[in-house]
Amino acid sequence: MAGALVLAGSAAASASPARVPAPRATAVPRPTAPRPSPAPPAPAAVRPLRRPVHTLKDYRRVLPGRAFPADAVALTIDDGPHPVWTPKILRLLDRYHVPALFCMIGNQVLGHEAVARSVVRDGHQIANHTWSHPTRMGRRPHTLMRRELARAQEKIYDTTGYAPTLFRSPGGDWSPALLGAAAKARMVPLDWSDDPRDWTRPGVTAITHRLLAARPGQILLCHDGGGDRSQTYAALRTVIPALRARGYRFVALDQRHP
Ligand SMILES: [Zn+2]
Repeated sequence: MAGALVLAGSAAASASPARVPAPRATAVPRPTAPRPSPAPPAPAAVRPLRRPVHTLKDYRRVLPGRAFPADAVALTIDDGPHPVWTPKILRLLDRYHVPALFCMIGNQVLGHEAVARSVVRDGHQIANHTWSHPTRMGRRPHTLMRRELARAQEKIYDTTGYAPTLFRSPGGDWSPALLGAAAKARMVPLDWSDDPRDWTRPGVTAITHRLLAARPGQILLCHDGGGDRSQTYAALRTVIPALRARGYRFVALDQRHP
């Protein structure tokens, strides 16, 4: 697999990849402000990967740079923004100074723009999680793949000033064609390594138990959108301090952003 996870261009060649000039939260468009220019290009063309990134080790193979700490884990939160659950989770993250990657759906940003902006304002990161969260994304026509990625990217950037460089397929449904579409859009395909299946609402205990099984180097998956996420929120209230107490360090994933 090692040979497969390679970026073409300067991002792979450099230990400090070119940065996407993500404007600060203050650059977020106000009603009177002009619309921002089109999203800045992501650094370097990306050669299609044979599989998405599952772990921090995978990520570091794709984007060379300083190694993650040995006790690092990354928290990713999908399907928002949501007007109820995203702010609650943001307050929780803030309390413990934990960074997270929010994998946002474009049509959820629509109508919840202020919530999306608060994610960036709080210092978190955003990944592209398609415009409409289609099922079987890996088997969809290429034009639909391209449109789903581009439309979400435009909405996220226009709303928050943040241009995602990571892409997560709905349900982790990948195919060579979708990996190719992500590469063409200059995004790194991202999966996860610990899935508590919180979206099925298996109960707080089950979600907590599964998340507490996390090991260093893993990418954890949770949801703030797609329905009632009270179980997820309750589990995170236990899991975040517990993992911190165990000595785990939560790290920001999208290191091409400040
Ligand atoms: Zn999703």
